Amino acid sequence: MSSPQTPASAALFDRSARSIPGGVNSPVRAFSAVGGTPRFIASASGSQLTDADGNRYVDLVSSWGPMILGHAHPAVVEAVQRAATTGLSFGAPTEAEVELAEELIARVAPVERIRLVNSGTEATMSAVRLARGVTGRTKIIKFSGCYHGHVDALLADAGSGLATLGLPTSPGVTGAQAQDTVVLPYNDLAAVREAFARYPGEIAAVITEAAAGNMGAVPPLPGFNAGLREITEADGALLILDEVMTGFRVSKAGWYGLEPVDADLFTFGKVMSGGLPAAAFGGRAEVMNRLAPLGSVYQAGTLSGNPVAVAAGLATLRNATDEVYAQLNANSIRLGGLIGDALTAEGVRHHVQYAGNLVSVFFTDGPVVNYDQAKAAETFRFAPFFHALLERGVYPPPSAFEAWFVSAALTDTDFESIEAALPAAARAAAAAKQ
Ligand SMILES: *Cc1c(COP(=O)(O)O)cnc(C)c1O
Repeated sequence: MSSPQTPASAALFDRSARSIPGGVNSPVRAFSAVGGTPRFIASASGSQLTDADGNRYVDLVSSWGPMILGHAHPAVVEAVQRAATTGLSFGAPTEAEVELAEELIARVAPVERIRLVNSGTEATMSAVRLARGVTGRTKIIKFSGCYHGHVDALLADAGSGLATLGLPTSPGVTGAQAQDTVVLPYNDLAAVREAFARYPGEIAAVITEAAAGNMGAVPPLPGFNAGLREITEADGALLILDEVMTGFRVSKAGWYGLEPVDADLFTFGKVMSGGLPAAAFGGRAEVMNRLAPLGSVYQAGTLSGNPVAVAAGLATLRNATDEVYAQLNANSIRLGGLIGDALTAEGVRHHVQYAGNLVSVFFTDGPVVNYDQAKAAETFRFAPFFHALLERGVYPPPSAFEAWFVSAALTDTDFESIEAALPAAARAAAAAKQ
């Protein structure tokens, strides 16, 4: 088995680094955590990526979630082409935006009003602003290891412990922005109760991933999300469930479809726009109607509700049938099973973990329930594991802390490729030295 040659990707990466910081427009794409040359993608179809050198890969990233139907799905491409020919952007409302809002509202019962934005980051930023505007309070509780986009106040991740005051994890986030963020350990309701006891009437909202997928797949423990609902309600704070990753991927109604907890606000992205830039936040009418122009909480966007992005989202959701969700679930179990079997065969300590159909492998005894545990895993085993797969035509996420995303387009042949690649990857993981 010879490694794929990647001179074209290497040349593009060199060139890119001269015009784009680090050569990439989103950091994890740079392969910093695993080393090596990031593959520049020339095209994609169905379950397969093709890089600039013509190497093909079974895609287990799915653009970090959106591509549940696979790449360049004919119905989505056709909808995008049709929308493009009738105008790219108007700065005025369209019928298709209403259809997308109705589609989301029909799927997630507590959502009565939707506003479309351009990225998941904008969705969570706007939801937090709205929560502060509605409650007249300043503090936000978030959980260590949960990612909500690169919103200043939500980058804080100061480790675990009661009412840990968030410190900026990025220069450029001011102390003032971070000090209103209380960072708590995930899946720890006692810590949440203590924080509310310490800051009564000061907490505007608790924001949590509906199921954590950004420290690897770490589902909420039974009763965690429901407990957050009870605690916030009792104090008059809002609950924001961030479904940017899980929304419309783990079921037709996202995580809400698996565990119906009535949050005040939900955020969506990724799948709902089928690979184009659109996202949304929504919730109870009474809360959402506090947004301008009805209310005084300002929120806007030149390209929000963009007709081409909306067309991609509608086509994706309308083609995401019950069969597609059944296929996603089956594919994730099949993938997790193969990974687990290969690692077990090589005696590598590991735990394959799921949050709905998100899959993760942690090089530790599981289950992993929070970020400290995720970080305590033998993450040094991940890079050699990753590269052995990549060399053999399988493209996993280039980080030990990211979930693996299946599409419904994966074929038996793809699974044969994955199964054929895994033993060498498991051997590489077993041989890894810290
Ligand atoms: C990806 C993600 C975001 C940010 O979305 P962008 O579109 O990248 O800004 C927010 N929250 C969660 C849970 C995510 O997975």
